[in-house]
Amino acid sequence: MKVVVLAGGVGGARFLLGVKAALDMPAIGAAESAHEVTALVNTADDVWLHGLRICPDLDTCMYTLGGGIDTERGWGHANETWTVSEELKAYGADPTWFGLGDKDIATHLIRSRMLRAGYPLSAVTEALCHRWQPGVTLLPMSDDRVETHVVVDDPDDHGQQKALHFQEWWVRYRAALQAHSIVPIGADEAKPAPGVTDALAEADVVLIAPSNPVVSVGTVLAVPGIKPALQATKAKVVGVSPIIGDRPLRGMADACLSAIGVDTTAEAVGKHYGARKDDGILDGWLIAAGESADVPGVDVSDVPLLMSDVDATAAMVLAAFDLAGVNVD
Ligand code: GDP
Ligand code: CA
Repeated sequence: MKVVVLAGGVGGARFLLGVKAALDMPAIGAAESAHEVTALVNTADDVWLHGLRICPDLDTCMYTLGGGIDTERGWGHANETWTVSEELKAYGADPTWFGLGDKDIATHLIRSRMLRAGYPLSAVTEALCHRWQPGVTLLPMSDDRVETHVVVDDPDDHGQQKALHFQEWWVRYRAALQAHSIVPIGADEAKPAPGVTDALAEADVVLIAPSNPVVSVGTVLAVPGIKPALQATKAKVVGVSPIIGDRPLRGMADACLSAIGVDTTAEAVGKHYGARKDDGILDGWLIAAGESADVPGVDVSDVPLLMSDVDATAAMVLAAFDLAGVNVD
């Protein structure tokens, strides 16, 4: 079976562990399997810092599926050290709010060197995955530069508005500055990375991970060509709500949803994605056990949605397969 997953960082990566387990692949690492999983990963969080290209969502997926993630933090390497960041701070080198571990920096050095040598991000990602063997094909949504910016009231200049890179808003300000708008700069001119639309066309089932609907899934869909490919695929498309009990989990997705005028409820996010037959993207929508949601034109099912461990996540994925009418055996 060919499974395609739209994914962001932490939520996407944990979901992918469950997808592999649901298909009887080891959650971590490579495996011989009759099944093929392709993740279309958000790259609009990407940023240049200290001359290095950082791709937080791709790296979170790669480290998580390759067994190298710090599971407590949810991002970066396990057993990380911070010598380089401390030295940069001692020089007063901005920005100091973004955590870059020493081992992580090696990834960014290789990526930046390959990008400067002219390799596209998709080729760089493939090369990095040779080491990590995630067992899933990780495709950046695009090889073109797309960066989410957030318009806020300038904290230093009262009465003025200012656009911050998403990372500065999210990591430095913890999304506490009210977002007037959230814009994926560059998305209009971006093209899907090689393999992205083919994966959608050839899929047996497409899953939308419980990733941030605005700055993870929303930005993937903002790349021209991806949403039409999702709408045209013969596969069913099933989404999983990142909102449980009217709250996002581990994160501040509500700050992003309110910026686009969507309530922080599973129903509102389902309606925001919309039914495929009404120019949206969903055939099915999984919401948390005991909740209800009315999303016109979409089959809704409620199951436990907490990704507390791989088994729980795999059960959630099997429920999504069920809703899509596909059988893994
Ligand atoms: P990021 O790029 O690291 O911010 O991660 P994603 O965009 O992939 O995922 C973030 C989203 O995952 C948040 O909006 C959370 O609500 C959601 N999330 C995190 N843990 C869980 C979980 O256990 N269950 C569900 N359903 N959603 C979760
Ligand atoms: Ca992200």
